Amino acid sequence: MILYPKILQIEITDACNLHCSYCDIHENHKHPGTMPFERVAWLIRQAQYASHVCPQYWGEPTLHPDFLQILRLCVESGKTASFYTNGLLLDTFDIPEVLRNTSEIRISMDNTTPDGFLNTTGSGSFERVRRNIVACWEAKKRFSLGTRIIIRATELVPAQPFGYFVSFWGPYCDSVELKPLRLSAPPPGIELMDRKTCDFPTRHIVIKRDGTVVLCCSDHNKQCPIGNVFESTVLDIFNSPRYNELRQQVGELPLCHNCWYRYRRRHTPSGEA
Ligand code: SF4
Repeated sequence: MILYPKILQIEITDACNLHCSYCDIHENHKHPGTMPFERVAWLIRQAQYASHVCPQYWGEPTLHPDFLQILRLCVESGKTASFYTNGLLLDTFDIPEVLRNTSEIRISMDNTTPDGFLNTTGSGSFERVRRNIVACWEAKKRFSLGTRIIIRATELVPAQPFGYFVSFWGPYCDSVELKPLRLSAPPPGIELMDRKTCDFPTRHIVIKRDGTVVLCCSDHNKQCPIGNVFESTVLDIFNSPRYNELRQQVGELPLCHNCWYRYRRRHTPSGEA
């Protein structure tokens, strides 16, 4: 039986304009760059079996010079698109147009104050990101757009209760999501999925900027490289013995032991979602 990925995750850039304290992108991507638009377009157009594209993996996707064009191409190709962003550059785009071409936007935000923001990110502007979050929310309401807007905290300032964080950002988003990095200390109320139940590698294909396919979105540093889409085909790689062998080991791989995917749980201003 041939397996078809439903979701294409394409790292269109591995550059980032912030230096978040918990993120090692700058250590592990010493020479960041972008995947040329022609390559991104070739991947999207050939994947007729995929229904969704996340034009991002490591890196800030709004830094790609053709970011909006890539979102439009996803929609023109009959797919939905979603992305994560630190939100800083959203005001350099036509925000309603970004939303029209996106089913879900996750905006990373770990703070409720400018000082806390700078402590985490090292640079950038809390106020600018806050304005962009509000602008997205207002555009969604004004044009009755279906895009889900999610504020995602990766690591909260320790002294900041999550309930306060939810009440602060809740009015400007559909939901607030917490993605703690440390599995050893799950916050109260957060449940872990059984690792064995992870279906990520059977639904997604994750493609790094240079074309390397990795097992899943937890494999930032290519611990489990599987092939290269610019030297083979997406389907050949997705159905290769190496991929199947790794699928059998899901839950037991070192990568899985610290996996955030199991941690995911959403909160809305009114409670669980
Ligand atoms: S690290 Fe393992 S458990 Fe986590 S998403 Fe990848 S395959 Fe699934």
